[in-house]
Amino acid sequence: MLIQSLAFTLPALLLAPVPQPAAKEYRPMPGVKDKLARYASVRLTTDVSSLTPNERKMLPLLIDAAQQMDRIFWLEAWGEKQQFLAAIADPDARRYAEINYGPWDRLDNDQAFIQGVGEKPATANFYPHDLTKTDFEQFIAAHPADATAFKSEYTVIERGPGGQLVAVPYHQHFAEPVQAAVRSIRAAAALAEDPGFKRYLELRAAALESDNYQASDFAWLDMKDNTVDFVVGPIETYEDRLFGYKAAHEAYVLVKDKVWSKRLERYAAFLPELQRGLPVPDAYKKETPGSASDLNAYDAIYYAGDCNAGAKTIAINLPNDEQVQLKKGTRRLQLKNAMRAKFDKILVPIADQLIATDQRKHITFEAFFGDTMFHEVAHGLGIKSTINGKGTVRDALKEQAGALEEGKADILGLYMVTQLIKRGEWKDAAAMDHYVTFMAGIIRSVRFGASSAHGRANMACFNFFQQAGAFSVDSSGRYRVDEAKMEKAVEALAAKILKFQGDGDYDGVKAWSGESGKVSPALQAALHRLAKANIPVDIVFEQGASVLGLN
Ligand code: ZN
Repeated sequence: MLIQSLAFTLPALLLAPVPQPAAKEYRPMPGVKDKLARYASVRLTTDVSSLTPNERKMLPLLIDAAQQMDRIFWLEAWGEKQQFLAAIADPDARRYAEINYGPWDRLDNDQAFIQGVGEKPATANFYPHDLTKTDFEQFIAAHPADATAFKSEYTVIERGPGGQLVAVPYHQHFAEPVQAAVRSIRAAAALAEDPGFKRYLELRAAALESDNYQASDFAWLDMKDNTVDFVVGPIETYEDRLFGYKAAHEAYVLVKDKVWSKRLERYAAFLPELQRGLPVPDAYKKETPGSASDLNAYDAIYYAGDCNAGAKTIAINLPNDEQVQLKKGTRRLQLKNAMRAKFDKILVPIADQLIATDQRKHITFEAFFGDTMFHEVAHGLGIKSTINGKGTVRDALKEQAGALEEGKADILGLYMVTQLIKRGEWKDAAAMDHYVTFMAGIIRSVRFGASSAHGRANMACFNFFQQAGAFSVDSSGRYRVDEAKMEKAVEALAAKILKFQGDGDYDGVKAWSGESGKVSPALQAALHRLAKANIPVDIVFEQGASVLGLN
């Protein structure tokens, strides 16, 4: 007890002039209560009575493993969670820190909302905070044999005892939470009745222990009949804003919606045809999307780590491994309950404020669902490798890759759905429903700010549409879509993005996202109007085994 308190106060005494209290306390900046009000709370549930007894027993085990991913993501994004939260006395600030996995506001360009924490480091905790891009690149040039380990999605870069850089695999760096997750996943595997799911869980546990994920990715793509699903591990690389190399940990526990899934099945068959029809020269569309790709709808019952930080994902397209994608395609999971919650709590109130009264009827859940679904399909289309020998698009475009890929998926998704409507294959909504709902969706997404890849992509898209006359703003500040001009603008923007990717044009993308990522005066006025109307910006979840009635 005594020793502990000495350890706390001694450094503070030695550093007397620092204007911080002796025992570390984190004080909020003004306005945290209003920030918290931007999140609408939603309970994540599903009909557990339709599950088998073993499936019901598996869910708490999968939630346990997900909570370990949550612990690891805290370490990646900030540091120790409990210690940090305990040092925040203000309950609103503490809750907001919990939602943001740290002291920087993910909905507001990573502005600090806690005093004295400084700017969010681009490195997160994947690299030493003082490491620059030049340091890293010089190190790789001097140690080419280390390039693979250093650029790996699954290593943390540290300084060794002599100050030299070392790459430590995740399973070593995060050994304790990884082992805890592995134990829960193996216990769930023992209960799994679906052989595909059992095999995937076993391989995924082994993958977390070795950081070799490919075999488990293939096993995940092979699963067809499982009702319960589990996405787990280091997956997306957005949290690494230095290079976009390092994958952050996350997990989703999911239950398949079989009725919706059946409806979605038939669209996967259109992928090769849609790839051939992309509005670019042949060189940019010669890759073949995997034919085993599939698309299903789920109720999400647990979000953890990266995917639970700030703005919530409502659709998943995985795996990210390009080799796996080229061989087997991807799986796209539509998180229908989370999507419906965002539509009801956010998109409908936004449309009521901002869409021209006579176009308000075009705001429909079917169109919203379709836009999101085809966004995910579109990730599998286009191009993964540059056409001029610059390697993969992801490597060539470095930290710009993520935002551009999201922009591509949005715009190709819209392109595809209009093609399917023309062929009479998609009858749930008209093209105008998709365009108008998409515009309302862009405004919703731009509210995330430029800190998320999606937010930046949407801002660029908004500005492109405005220049093309695809929408206008009337004297009352309401948006009106011009159907013919919108159709042309969608094709032009799709072609522009696919060319950027195929050419691996890093400088071009950087210049474009710099100039078009800015918020226009018209958009600023719209955002201001929404702020005054107190419409939530995103959702947070009440989730867990007790919410499901499982304990
Ligand atoms: Zn996406």
